[in-house]
Amino acid sequence: MRIDQPTIERIRQSADIADVIGDYVSLKKKGANLWACCPFHGEKSPSFSVSPAKGIYKCFGCGKAGDSIRFIMDIEGLGYGEALRHLAKKYGIEIQETVLTDEQLQAQNERESLLIVLNYAKNYYQNNLFKHEEGQSIGYPYFKERGFSDKTINTFELGYSLEGWDAFTKEALKNGYSLDILAKAGLTILKENEQTANPNAQKAFDRFRNRVTFPIHNVSGKVIAFGARILKADKSQAKYLNSPETEVYHKSNVLYGIFQAKNAIRTKDVCYLVEGYTDVISLHQAGIENVVASSGTSLTVEQIRLIGRFTQNITVLYDGDTAGIKASLRGMDMILEEGLNVKLF
Ligand SMILES: [Zn+2]
Repeated sequence: MRIDQPTIERIRQSADIADVIGDYVSLKKKGANLWACCPFHGEKSPSFSVSPAKGIYKCFGCGKAGDSIRFIMDIEGLGYGEALRHLAKKYGIEIQETVLTDEQLQAQNERESLLIVLNYAKNYYQNNLFKHEEGQSIGYPYFKERGFSDKTINTFELGYSLEGWDAFTKEALKNGYSLDILAKAGLTILKENEQTANPNAQKAFDRFRNRVTFPIHNVSGKVIAFGARILKADKSQAKYLNSPETEVYHKSNVLYGIFQAKNAIRTKDVCYLVEGYTDVISLHQAGIENVVASSGTSLTVEQIRLIGRFTQNITVLYDGDTAGIKASLRGMDMILEEGLNVKLF
């Protein structure tokens, strides 16, 4: 669906540039403009300016510039239509849409379809955890043993994937999702079926089976991938399994917990960096909400820049074992190279 022109105009008029950008960086008034350290590149003194009168921003360091919509596209990694929707939601504007041709729809919608099916999967796994007998007897006790409250389980949208080979895929197909989208979202694995004479026949099975699920959110709270921990003592399988790279999930750009942590990081002006999903969740529940993990990869420059949008201060809390110390030292070097301040605990 395409957003009609009058709606776009209403969004433009409502999305005050200082208000929009103020959600991401703290702006300080100097003269006619507002200034901040640029959220797009690492820096220690502010060269990012916002002109409320003109409705635009410009960074004199890296050259990024534009209006409120451009800012949301760049900082949230969204397309034009998605950025408009994001702002419409923020300002409570109802979207009026016009119908697109099939071709336009297809091109625009693949990314959005992935986000929709990933959200569906998140709800499905959550429902398993709370409503399904297997989730209640296997998944839920695992979280309870870790000391997670129901509130915490809900905040992080934790769930459970059933033991069967294709319980999720079958249910998703029944609900109208295509195998193609399920596979592109990394939720379903397709294998050629050697049992039949038809060389094109494929067998579909669930990527996540008999595991507790940890949805991975982007900065704006959309589910873009999953991490999943096995509950059976089965040495032949990886303890943690992650979604593969997809159109919406690029491991190296993502930090686990950033959506739940971003406001606390900005207000506390420091970000704690830990190793695992459960470390993030335990600290959050203990009231330390400004915490993220670089799960699935060792720390990357993109992840450091993502933190740099919210604070210039990182405290690394890694395991005291040799591998943990080595990883933290590498991480510290990179953080310093990006111009941020780092402490190690
Ligand atoms: Zn910049």
